[in-house]
Amino acid sequence: MGLADLHLHTTASDGRLTPEDLVSVAAGRGLRYIAITDHDSTEGVDRAVAAARLYPGLTVIPGLEASTDIPHAEVHILGYFLDYHDPELQEQLLVLRNGRIDRAKRMLDKLSKLGIRLQWERVVELAADGSVGRPHIAQAMLEKGYIHTFKDAFNKYIGRDGPAYAERYKLTPVEAVSLIVKKGGLAVLAHPAEHPSIVDLLPSLIEAGLVGIEAYYNYYSSEVVEDILRLAEKFGLIPTGGSDFHGEGTGVDAQLGEPDVPVEHVLRLIELAQRKGETLSTRVST
Ligand SMILES: [Zn+2]
Ligand SMILES: [Zn+2]
Repeated sequence: MGLADLHLHTTASDGRLTPEDLVSVAAGRGLRYIAITDHDSTEGVDRAVAAARLYPGLTVIPGLEASTDIPHAEVHILGYFLDYHDPELQEQLLVLRNGRIDRAKRMLDKLSKLGIRLQWERVVELAADGSVGRPHIAQAMLEKGYIHTFKDAFNKYIGRDGPAYAERYKLTPVEAVSLIVKKGGLAVLAHPAEHPSIVDLLPSLIEAGLVGIEAYYNYYSSEVVEDILRLAEKFGLIPTGGSDFHGEGTGVDAQLGEPDVPVEHVLRLIELAQRKGETLSTRVST
């Protein structure tokens, strides 16, 4: 257990805990720094910041996790400290989230052709106020008895190679980094070990403004962490980290605060954001 967790999901996307509950659990575990990084959404940030006022020792970093596409794979880009009230950013995020709805509907169509009939209304209900995703479809399948375990849904139907999988509109990784930078944020490459060829992407991402890479991650062995730390060193990136906590029963078995993320790296990120903020305000005032 560490003191920082910079990768957390709430009910604003496919997490199980409300922003308020997440903050209270994080404070209960003695965390000092958390970042709310919902998929293509910052809707949980204000609520988390407000809830954290009860816990003076806890800092909430505003963030998001942008889903982007490269051929045959999905790449996630974390954005921290961005100006999340910016209307243009919110409009772009809405387009990305609606992409999730279109895609979920197409997956339901495909499932129905396979004899699996789910109600759209139920899937939306399961998503509560968050953006609808594959975990909600899996849960609807589980409820109806079409599958026995949550993972069956992904393994047999809606995993990337499954017969009911559908793609959706997404940014490219470089576009996501550029958007985050344009909105005053710091862009960090999430869970990079998923894609062995990601190293090839790094130069273009760094050129677009990438400043960090997620090294301390829930599932990563110490060897993998070491490899990413070497990459971070080589490319001058800040190694960040987090659990990717979604909550119980979501098929993502991460515990809040589990990877021990060294606070020194979090402080480097905060310092960079402050410097950037100062540069921006100087530019505005002159
Ligand atoms: Zn991710
Ligand atoms: Zn995530």
